[in-house]
Amino acid sequence: MRSTVSDGVTYSTFTGWSDRPTDFTPALEGRIHCDVAVVGGGLVGMASALRLAERGADVVVLEAGYCGWGGASRNAGYLSNELAGDPQMLRFLYRRRLRNLIRYAESSAQFAENLIDQLGIDCEYDRTGSVNAAVSAGQLRRLKKGVRILRDAGADVEFVEGPEFGLPDTFLGGTHLRGGGLLNPGKLASGLRDAVLASGARVFERTTVRAVEPDGAKVVLTVPGGRVHADRVVLATNAHTRDLAIAPRGVVPVWTSVVETEPVDPGRLEAIGWTSRAGIVTPHTILENYRRTARGTLLFGTRRLEAAPRALGAREPGRAVVADLVRGFHERFPSLRYVAPRRTWGGWVAITSFLPVAGEVVKNVFYAVSCNGHGLAQSPYLGTLLADRLAGDDPHDDLRAVWQPRPPRLPSIALSAPSLRAAWALDRISDRFSHRR
Ligand SMILES: Cc1cc2nc3c(=O)[nH]c(=O)nc-3n(C[C@H](O)[C@H](O)[C@H](O)COP(=O)(O)OP(=O)(O)OC[C@H]3O[C@@H](n4cnc5c(N)ncnc54)[C@H](O)[C@@H]3O)c2cc1C
Repeated sequence: MRSTVSDGVTYSTFTGWSDRPTDFTPALEGRIHCDVAVVGGGLVGMASALRLAERGADVVVLEAGYCGWGGASRNAGYLSNELAGDPQMLRFLYRRRLRNLIRYAESSAQFAENLIDQLGIDCEYDRTGSVNAAVSAGQLRRLKKGVRILRDAGADVEFVEGPEFGLPDTFLGGTHLRGGGLLNPGKLASGLRDAVLASGARVFERTTVRAVEPDGAKVVLTVPGGRVHADRVVLATNAHTRDLAIAPRGVVPVWTSVVETEPVDPGRLEAIGWTSRAGIVTPHTILENYRRTARGTLLFGTRRLEAAPRALGAREPGRAVVADLVRGFHERFPSLRYVAPRRTWGGWVAITSFLPVAGEVVKNVFYAVSCNGHGLAQSPYLGTLLADRLAGDDPHDDLRAVWQPRPPRLPSIALSAPSLRAAWALDRISDRFSHRR
């Protein structure tokens, strides 16, 4: 775990929300057998393992770092009940499935809230909902149309005016998603990890799975120090999915970064009308997000996505990306220019064709990816639904809604470095030429 300091900002290869655990479980050495092997101890993997253990399965978790190391602890903390992607585009691509997909997203947020409650995890959860907020008249019109589409498909959303809702004065108004809220993902991931360790699941950290191969009625997983012979396998590897030869194609990794400021006097926020505690997301091609934290700081992120090199390692956010995020913060909040950025981190996210997906890649090898930058609520739910299916239940309707033998593939150009730079440039052009009224 590395970090460097530049211009007063700590650049971290890890998350800024929490410290890493000190009680790593041992790496796997030797040969073992189990009912279900879960590859990846993120939100999907931990939730699957918890449920399988609860239902009496002999479950093994194999995690390359430690449980919670990935997006689970690094994300911006928006526990949202929405799907990724613009509603008009979703309706265009998935008209017939949209109602079921929205029900899935709504159920995800409720499930995650209940899980936090049942496990008694103190992760500063604040049931604020969130707002997709417009910075221009054009964005506002699009959001208004989006509200109608979402409501027609059963979503719990309303249109709100910026000043009435307590949005900072840079935002005109937008879509209020009433479900979900904000939390500290470092604390959530660590609470889930404690629950998994106490659950009876056998957890092997610092154990990277190199290969997953069917072998007769069993599946064999190869790790540097040994092998696991499992009846069934859950691939819960998020952005790293493409590293496993057996995993489905069509899951593309990209890097996303966040910046946290020093604490800000709440009076300064009130002065610009920022009284709502809800997390804010803009409807740019590559979204911007702005939120308040329980420790009195502001957190903002994304705006720029970076294409993945061949091997996904731990890395710090790039200096140019952080400078651009800070520039964006200053443009949106000119009166907060004095607020200093203090730390930055990021992580790999998996992009599919905007939708969560799960399926059986080959007999007895299952996968689940619910990321697209929106997996904080969806991943625990998807992991649990998959576990219930493996434990013998009929597939839940919400699992059917996302079930695909393999994720539909995005054209490879879509998330290439030039395309991502072009998307960023288009957003900046639209910022420059769009009008507030
Ligand atoms: C900076 C950032 C901000 C985000 N903000 C939000 C947000 O506000 N709201 C939201 O809903 N979502 C957000 N996300 C996305 C969210 O974090 C993810 O959707 C979620 O963590 C996905 O859960 P997961 O279990 O699929 O993957 P992860 O939590 O990433 O877990 C995958 C795990 O698999 C392990 N692994 C991978 N390959 C192997 C292997 N071969 N062997 C063993 N282990 C392996 C990894 O080490 C990792 O621990 C954000 C993500 C990032 C990075």
